[in-house]
Amino acid sequence: MKKGKVVLVGAGFVGMSMAYSMLNKGGIEELVLIDIDKEKTVGEEMDLSHGLPYAPRKMVIKSGDYTACKDAQTVVITAGVAQKPGQTRLELAQVNTKIVKQITKSVMESGFNGIIIVASNPVDIMTYVVWKVSGLPKNKVIGTGTVLDTARLRYLVADYLKVSSKNVHAYIMGEHGDSSFVPWDHAYVGCKKVKDIMKDNHHPMEDLKKIHKGVVNAAYEIIEKKKATYYGIGMALDRLVRAVIDNENSILTVSTYLENQYGQNDIYIGVPAIINRNGVRELIELNLNDYEQEKLDHSCKLIKEMRQQSIEKIIESK
Ligand code: NAD
Repeated sequence: MKKGKVVLVGAGFVGMSMAYSMLNKGGIEELVLIDIDKEKTVGEEMDLSHGLPYAPRKMVIKSGDYTACKDAQTVVITAGVAQKPGQTRLELAQVNTKIVKQITKSVMESGFNGIIIVASNPVDIMTYVVWKVSGLPKNKVIGTGTVLDTARLRYLVADYLKVSSKNVHAYIMGEHGDSSFVPWDHAYVGCKKVKDIMKDNHHPMEDLKKIHKGVVNAAYEIIEKKKATYYGIGMALDRLVRAVIDNENSILTVSTYLENQYGQNDIYIGVPAIINRNGVRELIELNLNDYEQEKLDHSCKLIKEMRQQSIEKIIESK
C-alpha cells in the first residue's frame, strides 16, 4: 500500500472540490481520478496540475482506471447521479445503488485493501451498499455521514455566538438528511456548554432549534440558488481522508456501522467516531436523552425502510 495515495471515483463537482482542496493544502502524495467520463478526468488532471507551481507541496495527479486502486490507501466514491425533477428519493437511491455497486466491485477486483470513503447520496445507504458488496471489515468502510451537517452546525453556532467555529464542539447525528438531530447537552463552545452560554446571555433556547433548522434547510437553499452543493462537502472529504492518511485519531461524525451501540443494529448512520489509519477505530457512545434517542431511532427506521424497499434486492442481485 502506498501511503498518501488516494483514488477518487466520480470527478464531478463534489469529487473535484475535494481534489482542489487537497492540492491547496498539500500533504497528499498522489491522487488518481476515475470517472465514467474518461475525457473529463484527463481535462481535470491537466487543469489541476497547472496549479502545481503555486501549490504548497507537490502532488501527483493522474487520470486512471480501477487498477490504480490496488495499492491506494483510500478510495473516495463521489460518483452518482443527481435527483431529477419528479424522481423520488427511493428512485434516486435505486439508480445510485446500481452505480455504487458496480464501482465497488471494480475497486475490489484490483486487489484493494485500504479504506473506502463514500459521499454519494443517500450516503448512509450507499455506505451500507459499499460495505456489503466489498466484503471489507466494517471499520474500513466509512460514509461522510453528518460530517458536512456538523460543519454547517458549527458555522451557524459560531455566527450566532460570535466565536470562532474552531471552538464550537457540537455535533449533528443521525441520517444525513431531514431526520438528523443535535445532542445539545453535549455541545460546547470551548469548555462551556452551549446551553449555559444561551442561558447566561439571555438568548432564547428556541434559537437552537432555528440553528438546527438552518442546517437541515442548507442543502435545499443552496441547490435552489446554485443547483448543487460541493465546496463544503469537498472540504469535509479532504478532512476525512487526512484523518485516515495521517493516522489522526480525530473525532468526526461519520456514517459508521452500529452493532448494538445506541440500541441499534445492522445500520450505517452518522455518529461521532474516532478515525485513524484503520478507518473507524471506535464509536463514541453518548448518553442521549429520551428525545434524542427517539430521534436516532426514527432516523434508523427511515434508513432501514428505504433499504428494505428494493435496495437490499439490488445488492444481492447478480
Ligand atoms: P456530479 O454529477 O457533478 O458528479 C458525479 C460524477 O459521477 C460525474 O462526473 C459522473 O460522470 C460520475 N459517474 C456517474 N456514474 C459513474 C460510474 N458508473 N462510474 C464512475 N463515475 C460515474 O455530482 P456531484 O455534485 O459531484 O455529486 C456527487 C454525489 O455526491 C451525489 O450523489 C450527491 O448527492 C452527493 N453529495 C453528497 C453530499 C454529502 O454530504 N454526503 C453532499 C453533496 C453532494
